[in-house]
Amino acid sequence: MITTGIIWSDQYLTYNLGEGHPMNPKRLLIPFQLLKSLKIFGRPEIKHIEPQKASDDDILLFHTPKYLEIMKELSRIGKGYDFRYGLGTGDCPVFHGMHESSSLIVGGALEGIKRIMNGDINQAFSLLGGLHHAFAEKAAGFCYYNDVVIAIRFLQKKYNIKKVLYVDTDVHAGDGVLDAFYAENSVLGISIHESPQFIFPGTGLSDEIGEKNGLGYSLNLPLYPGTWDDNYIEMFESLIPCIWEEYDPEFVVWQCGADGHFRDVLGHLNLTTNLYSYLGMRISELTRISNADGKLLLLGGGGYNPDSVARVWLAILMGITGISLPDESPSDWIDFCRTKYNIVANKQINDPKIDPYKIENYKLIHTANEQYLNVLKEELRETQVWKKCKALF
Ligand SMILES: [Zn+2]
Repeated sequence: MITTGIIWSDQYLTYNLGEGHPMNPKRLLIPFQLLKSLKIFGRPEIKHIEPQKASDDDILLFHTPKYLEIMKELSRIGKGYDFRYGLGTGDCPVFHGMHESSSLIVGGALEGIKRIMNGDINQAFSLLGGLHHAFAEKAAGFCYYNDVVIAIRFLQKKYNIKKVLYVDTDVHAGDGVLDAFYAENSVLGISIHESPQFIFPGTGLSDEIGEKNGLGYSLNLPLYPGTWDDNYIEMFESLIPCIWEEYDPEFVVWQCGADGHFRDVLGHLNLTTNLYSYLGMRISELTRISNADGKLLLLGGGGYNPDSVARVWLAILMGITGISLPDESPSDWIDFCRTKYNIVANKQINDPKIDPYKIENYKLIHTANEQYLNVLKEELRETQVWKKCKALF
């Protein structure tokens, strides 16, 4: 039996960037409530894991001492700014306790790794995690401490893991993570996202493929606004499994942001829960057949329509566990969304399939995506790193 840890603390709700901010507790509590309503935590193959705060030493695996000091200071005061460090902006406001709640998120990722590595569970899903935009000395894009980079450094340092595969399917490019390992070949980073020509963070085009020892180990696959499920799968399958198999990772970290969903308020893609079920199933399968032998850490990432986030994360969770997805949303969850937040939740868990012929400019989207993919393939061919990957030749 494959066992999955779901990492959750009620203290995650203190990561509150403001009631009017896209990153507010309801986009977290509504998905958690859906899992509770469906009694996911009572199943034998699911374990609830309570995280502990990461230590300063853990945070310093990536961030600078100066940044940690400023974070602690502003967190204690609970207001103010220091724009040199990206703190106090609209995206990353200063709030009381931001150091503690960010440390708990990092701790969640580290706890997942420890439990996987000691054989307690096979895979872990930290619902609040995947804060992929934070840099070593700068907060950005709702992220203060980069739990992804710290988790990967922790895998390398504590467990001597030599090959980590990082997959990022958030609608925004995983800039902070790919940048951190841009000159290293011990981490293969694959980010599939809406083209940065149209959305934050402005980097992540197909010709950004790493440098020095890391040349060929950063893969950015941009998608044109409007991209739908089948087109996404076509892009994914035409390159990713081939490189994945050749790299043969020892551990896989997946930032599985829900903001590519067609009802998200920030992204512009046309993805449905069907795509996320597919990704859950496929990424878990690729992880099992590689040297990683099923060792998979998922980090929730973005997603700013609470109803979409809940159903997308559930679809992913069902995909990686093989538990079948229910058809109908539970009525007590629908009531919870309405009475607590005045949100009308979808009655069906799964979205209907979107007919591409009804998408405006579907031909243009298809052609643009082909071009993005071809640029990436050409760049990778030149590096001669992936010699066995038939998809490149
Ligand atoms: Zn995002």
